[in-house]
Amino acid sequence: MTNNEIMWKLTELRDLLILSGKKSSESESEEERIAAEEVEKTGNSSLIDQLRTKIPPGLIEMIEIPELDAITINKINRELGVTTLNGLRKVAKKRQLRRLEGISSKRELSILRSIKLLLEPPERFPSAIAKPMGDKIVADIMLIPGVINATLSGELRRGMEMVDFISIVIKGDNSEEILGVMSKHPLFKKNIFKSSLKLVVETNIKLKVEMEVAESSEYWHRVHHTTGSADYIEEFERIDKSRNITLGVDTINCEQDLYKKLDMQYVEPELRESKSVIELAIKGEIPELINMDDYKGDLHSHTMWSDGTGTVEEIARAAIKQQYSYLAITEHTKSLKIARGITEQELEQQMDEIDKLNSKFAEEGIPFRLLKGVEVDILKSGILDFENEVLEKMDLVIASVHTDFDQSKQKMTERIIKALENPYVNIFAHPTGRILGRRSGYEVDLDQVFAAAKETGTVLEINSAPDRLDLNYLDAKRARDMGIKIAINTDSHDPERLSNISFGIQEAKKGWLKAEDVINCMGLEELQEFFKAQKN
Ligand SMILES: [Zn+2]
Ligand SMILES: [Zn+2]
Repeated sequence: MTNNEIMWKLTELRDLLILSGKKSSESESEEERIAAEEVEKTGNSSLIDQLRTKIPPGLIEMIEIPELDAITINKINRELGVTTLNGLRKVAKKRQLRRLEGISSKRELSILRSIKLLLEPPERFPSAIAKPMGDKIVADIMLIPGVINATLSGELRRGMEMVDFISIVIKGDNSEEILGVMSKHPLFKKNIFKSSLKLVVETNIKLKVEMEVAESSEYWHRVHHTTGSADYIEEFERIDKSRNITLGVDTINCEQDLYKKLDMQYVEPELRESKSVIELAIKGEIPELINMDDYKGDLHSHTMWSDGTGTVEEIARAAIKQQYSYLAITEHTKSLKIARGITEQELEQQMDEIDKLNSKFAEEGIPFRLLKGVEVDILKSGILDFENEVLEKMDLVIASVHTDFDQSKQKMTERIIKALENPYVNIFAHPTGRILGRRSGYEVDLDQVFAAAKETGTVLEINSAPDRLDLNYLDAKRARDMGIKIAINTDSHDPERLSNISFGIQEAKKGWLKAEDVINCMGLEELQEFFKAQKN
């Protein structure tokens, strides 16, 4: 019995006790203590089996919703009488969940999306869903005794925005034991295939997970092979074979060594979509692409002043922790009621708060600056939600479309171009409006928008929210090739989301962007100069 298995069972025991109403506080009853001892000895407990038959199955299913814990589910059951996923969906749609203490409207919407995933699993999964799940599984694998290393490979490692399955390679000695433990993981609902080296399972949302165990000497070969793409690997292995270089077993200690052996440049996973990149790698012609070290600060974020969850100081401290030089606060504006858009007066007050915080950071000797920004709504006609007298006071202005998505392609294109022509607009955010797995975005002629961005010197955004990735890498590359500058921003609505920047950097890499193409790689002074000069 490994610690993982015991931990999973104890969590199950605790959840079931709460759902049955037998446990409400952290303290342990005699019954729970005896059952826990039984779990530690035998890996199971009769109490768990008993509780499972008594509790409505719908309540147990609700545990799969990441936004809910057993205590909240029990409360929902008590106060709203809900016992099934469908019932939960109904009350959430009627906006009754948000009336319960501790459930915000945002959480309610998020719960609705999770129920949809459980009841109607999609064919392919946005990396926004698959990546955190993959990371969690890898972290759990790393806790199993005998595991030396584990890595996500496949489409997730290549930074694909939608994936078919999660692929993981494990370095360890006792493969049967490792896979045996993982086959009991609470996230997995169905075992599809199992051999001594490989386990394929399906999660609660029918997302397939392939895990394979490799011996130490084979580990990096297998990580490389399973990362793909198929075309790329075929070509790589053809060259590997034709060169016929044999090395000692211990010479491959990382993936880079596989490339050194062939005397070619390392190709980052993000670039492995087609085999054509291999020729460049052999000639040593892959340019140095943007990476996280180049990135100096985020230019798009929200706080409680509009629809974010943190305070200005909280998100600033999170940015300082990321070692950024700057962070722009960019709230929604007044006409976007659903996001509690800010008024001109509130913006003034926020600017005072930012001044005070900047003084405070200076006093503390922190080399960091909050920038005063705003994400101004582009209204239906292309007019901006704030007058130019307001916009001209800002360090930067982001413009974006959040309403009237059903306009004709021509109307939408005109609307956007009109906004880009405003001399105070620095960045056009999430240019296509798509949400991965949910909506495809508005109809718009991107060629015309790009031409207008080029003409007016407007920066285009790669929005790094993993369910947006907008622009995508292909469009970002096209824009860059036209000479348009790119901003990579997280659009964080919560201080923790600043870490989503990794998705945006990956997307930029896939689009072959270099640090010099991305304004977030400028130091503070250079950036401020850039904004000043941008629209003149
Ligand atoms: Zn927005
Ligand atoms: Zn935003």
